[in-house]
Amino acid sequence: MRINKESFKSDFKRKLTTLYAESIRSASNFHKYYALASLVKDYSSEKWMNSNDYYSSQKKKQVYYFSMEFLIGRLLGSNLLNLGIRDLCREALAELDINLDELEELEHDAGLGNGGLGRLAACFLDSMASVGIAGHGCGIRYDYGLFEQKIVNGYQVEIPDNWLKNGNVWEVRREDKAVVVKFGGKVTPVLENDTLTFEHTDYEAVLAIPYDTPIVGYKNNTVNTLRLWSAETIDKDFDLDSFSKGEYTKAVEHKYSVQSISQVLYPDDTRIDGKILRLKQQYFFVSAGLQSILRTFRKTRKPITKLDEYIQIQINDTHPAVAVAELMRILVDEEQVSWDDAWRITTNVMSYTNHTILTEALEKWPIELFKKLLPRIFMIITEINERFCKKIYEKYNDLNLVHDMAIVCDGYVKMAFLAIVGSHSVNGVAKLHTQILKERELNNFYKFFPQKFNNKTNGITHRRWLLKSNPELSKLINKTIGDNWITEPIKLINLLAYSKDKDFQDKMYEIKQANKAEFAKYFYETHGINIDPNSIFDVQVKRLHAYKRQLLNVFNILDLYYRLKENPNLDIVPRTFFFGAKAAPGYYLAKQTIKLINTVADIIDKDQAVNNKIKVIFLENYSVSLAEKIIPCADISEQISTTTKEASGTGNMKLMMNGAITIATLDGANVEICDQVGEENIIIFGMKKDEVMELEKTKRYNSMDYYNSDPRIKRILDNLVNGSLGVSPSEFADIHKYLLANNDEFFVLKDFAAYLDAQNKIDELYRNQDKWREMSIVNIAHSGAFSSDNTIKKYARDIWRINQ
Ligand SMILES: *Cc1c(COP(=O)(O)O)cnc(C)c1O
Repeated sequence: MRINKESFKSDFKRKLTTLYAESIRSASNFHKYYALASLVKDYSSEKWMNSNDYYSSQKKKQVYYFSMEFLIGRLLGSNLLNLGIRDLCREALAELDINLDELEELEHDAGLGNGGLGRLAACFLDSMASVGIAGHGCGIRYDYGLFEQKIVNGYQVEIPDNWLKNGNVWEVRREDKAVVVKFGGKVTPVLENDTLTFEHTDYEAVLAIPYDTPIVGYKNNTVNTLRLWSAETIDKDFDLDSFSKGEYTKAVEHKYSVQSISQVLYPDDTRIDGKILRLKQQYFFVSAGLQSILRTFRKTRKPITKLDEYIQIQINDTHPAVAVAELMRILVDEEQVSWDDAWRITTNVMSYTNHTILTEALEKWPIELFKKLLPRIFMIITEINERFCKKIYEKYNDLNLVHDMAIVCDGYVKMAFLAIVGSHSVNGVAKLHTQILKERELNNFYKFFPQKFNNKTNGITHRRWLLKSNPELSKLINKTIGDNWITEPIKLINLLAYSKDKDFQDKMYEIKQANKAEFAKYFYETHGINIDPNSIFDVQVKRLHAYKRQLLNVFNILDLYYRLKENPNLDIVPRTFFFGAKAAPGYYLAKQTIKLINTVADIIDKDQAVNNKIKVIFLENYSVSLAEKIIPCADISEQISTTTKEASGTGNMKLMMNGAITIATLDGANVEICDQVGEENIIIFGMKKDEVMELEKTKRYNSMDYYNSDPRIKRILDNLVNGSLGVSPSEFADIHKYLLANNDEFFVLKDFAAYLDAQNKIDELYRNQDKWREMSIVNIAHSGAFSSDNTIKKYARDIWRINQ
């Protein structure tokens, strides 16, 4: 399909008319947005159909990325970009007096994820389509995405994210492809003519309806599918049985109980709370996804024993791990495949990505709950477990080891162990993370299955996080080294030749300043707050969690504040500290930290003696679209987690790609960023992996020692609880208690001095602008290594065994 400005303009006008019976003159901006998006979807639909036809006729290997979260953000801008018509549309719309950027702003973020894990899934979808892999997403179409955050009087307030209220132009509801998912009931073995089958009765049947969203590859005609499942009652509106008995309320209740399965995303990224609805969600989308994959496969008329040659499934964290047992059920119960063949097929199909070593995040389900909800799946897991335990015993003759590695043990079903045993690949998400998995967390499994373990360092799509979010920098890069970095991101390395080039340095600096000024303007217009675009933009944006140590950042700010009070002539480069972070609604300490950040922001704001030198901005409702605005402005990237706790991080990659200098612990992918850019182009501080592990083992850390020996720490902690922050002394008592009485689990006080030293280096470095700009360019040049295009190619080659 050839599109030029004139044809686009007439298509757009026609769209407004067919959708709304409106002209450009009469249509609201939202209608213009919707009509434009609808047109863009039309432009991609032929490619979508052709991709699907091509995949089925070539019998190409299909990859399915199973994930409970897809943090997509907005699609209009990225779809225009990937179709290669964004500039054309911008110009054509301008001729109609319409501003494309304004329309793009009207799209509601698809916030179907908490943070890094969900965003990774979204970046992978973009990369799979853009490098031409037949790779699709499978997840849940939540009616409500991650809550919207409002800050009221310094506190986080959660508002439901009703993202579908104005419709979702991108999705296609496919009722014809619905499947039934069964919960509860009774399973009875039936022996007939020497074959054993299992009869499932009295179950609750839930209808799973798929909604498909096209995932457009970058200028390559590939359009893949993100299939999200929605739960509905089979009788559509009523449980007829109850209804006919006159139990009207019961019928309606049943409808709502079924719909609740896909109603809301659990707003917690690192802890599990064992809620039965969550297990229901997991089985719901996994079963629906597998049933639809198998249905498509049967149409190819290939023997089921070759399923693994055509289908690969990546399990994103343990949330979809029940897929191992569900595929076994389908193969054994429905396809009459022998257990051994089914097991070979299943393990060849499945691979598992581990995302965390935090023990509170390792999913396990109480046996009683599991058995009741998924009786047949539980039987299958028991069988998998028995066979596995037998193998461990045969190999080691050690019952303790059997106990430690059993999938079903101590009253729980352990999902990570099920995923490992049932997959042919287990990967960590950064070198350090994979090393820790092998050495410590999963050491038993590594020794038993060494060939399964591998590393795949996370990545980000440079198309959204540089090309789209930082258009001026992208243009400068194009002019300087050409534009082949867009399809071969590693080519960004050619910028190294310009790291000392005065002209390039100056232009890059001007772009950064313009981005900052634009953000300051946007922030003033939306919040009425002034930000100095000439200050250093110091940015920490990520979920709020103790291990990510936003507290360390606030404590540095407080210390700086006290120093400025003592010495008003202290010569520092003005700095604006940005925080963007949502806290899980039930995570008290995290919510307290938000209140503390806002309290410190207030104190500084009201203090004439310091408020022209430092400022703290809390960015309400951090989301993908807000990330795209702030990241191109950042001078400093804060990546200060307790070493060993951040599996990879991807915010770190987005920020370096936009020229920010990273201040970091040697944790997660920070290690690899440091390896790439060299120690002279990153600011590293704090405890190393071995120190942390040693202290955790010996339990020799005593946070009180740091409180007693460092007067700066003492001042900060005392002031938290003596009323001097202008709030009740009890307001931050729990933070105080967490750090002292409870011994500071994530070593904030231990790393405090090193962090302050590192912070002080920044001022000095920034004053030397030649050096600073050179560092910035070196960072951008090396960021191509962290494109998810590269990551995905490694998954394809090593795990999915796809020949490109
Ligand atoms: C990239 C991203 C994250 C992950 O950030 P980390 O710093 O890696 O934790 C979280 N939320 C959003 C909206 C993102 O875009």
